[in-house]
Amino acid sequence: MSGANGTGRDDFAARLLDWFDHSGRHDLPWQHPRTPYRVWLGEIMLQQTQVKTVIPYFERFVGVFPTLASLASASLDEVLAQWSGLGYYARARNLHAAARWCMERHDGDLPRDHAALVALPGIGRSTAGAILAQAWGERAPILDGNVKRVLSRYHGIEGWPNLPAVEKLLWTLAQAHLPDERLADYTQAQMDFGATLCTRANPACMLCVLREDCVALGQGRVEELPTSRPGKPLPERSALILLAENADGEVLLQRRPPTGIWASLWSLPEAADHEQARHWFETNLQGDYDQAEALAEIPHAFTHYRLRMHPLRWRGLAARGRVGDNDDLRWVARADLLSLGLPAPIRKLLAQPAPR
Ligand code: SF4
Repeated sequence: MSGANGTGRDDFAARLLDWFDHSGRHDLPWQHPRTPYRVWLGEIMLQQTQVKTVIPYFERFVGVFPTLASLASASLDEVLAQWSGLGYYARARNLHAAARWCMERHDGDLPRDHAALVALPGIGRSTAGAILAQAWGERAPILDGNVKRVLSRYHGIEGWPNLPAVEKLLWTLAQAHLPDERLADYTQAQMDFGATLCTRANPACMLCVLREDCVALGQGRVEELPTSRPGKPLPERSALILLAENADGEVLLQRRPPTGIWASLWSLPEAADHEQARHWFETNLQGDYDQAEALAEIPHAFTHYRLRMHPLRWRGLAARGRVGDNDDLRWVARADLLSLGLPAPIRKLLAQPAPR
């Protein structure tokens, strides 16, 4: 399979695995030891629940029910008592019923077979894939919410991912990207990548190992993919807008990327969060980042999402900062600002009276 941008190679899995080696989660309790029972329990607990919430419940649960047999022989009340507080109790009921089924029909263990796993209560296609890949290293794809988001963006797939036709396409892509080995790590890598890097809001594209081939990034459609559920209100995103003014009264402008919103326009620099903003500030300016003054929020609606802009302003900075000859960064005198093709909300912000 070729890269998402038709580059003729598919190193999607290899890149995710490299990323996983240094940035993934390697010390989750269900990874040590990675038995089918523990993997299954972890997967069920993780449905609709974050890793950090699950960990103490998981440890307590396997302390009381260390094996599938011990779970099957417990009463439902005992199981629910251990689940108490984790929510979505149907998961616990299904887990218990599935454990009893495995005792009766699968010699007391989970079946190493996709169809047999999916036949168990509470195990869908993606969970079955996650169990097969993590417990036995089988080449089975997963397609949870995180993976749907990453694949929709990487391949630029339009349409709500839970629509049958879109989901079918995503399964095909998930299958096509499977590596030949390290399936357990690859499965965890996909989950971690979606949960920590290609996140729903403010994904860290600047740090992304897939950025070179990511269609959504290349086409400036990261914010609009994956497509929201039809009829849902527009998604919201927030950004810091960096208004740096030097002692000569000039403002530092940055040219926007050639694709995406406000393509190629001069604008104020933007950052997803303070970490990014500080990095930008320290790279380009001389002064104290923490002296920033927070200005009033500016809301703005685009076709596919709403942007809440939070301007940060610094005044009296060193005249040139660290900005050398640069096609994409430019100090501009206040009097010249409005003659540039600035985006409307930025123009409005800059048109406010100059600080004294
Ligand atoms: S470049 Fe951005 S949108 Fe694309 S896969 Fe990476 S984090 Fe996700």
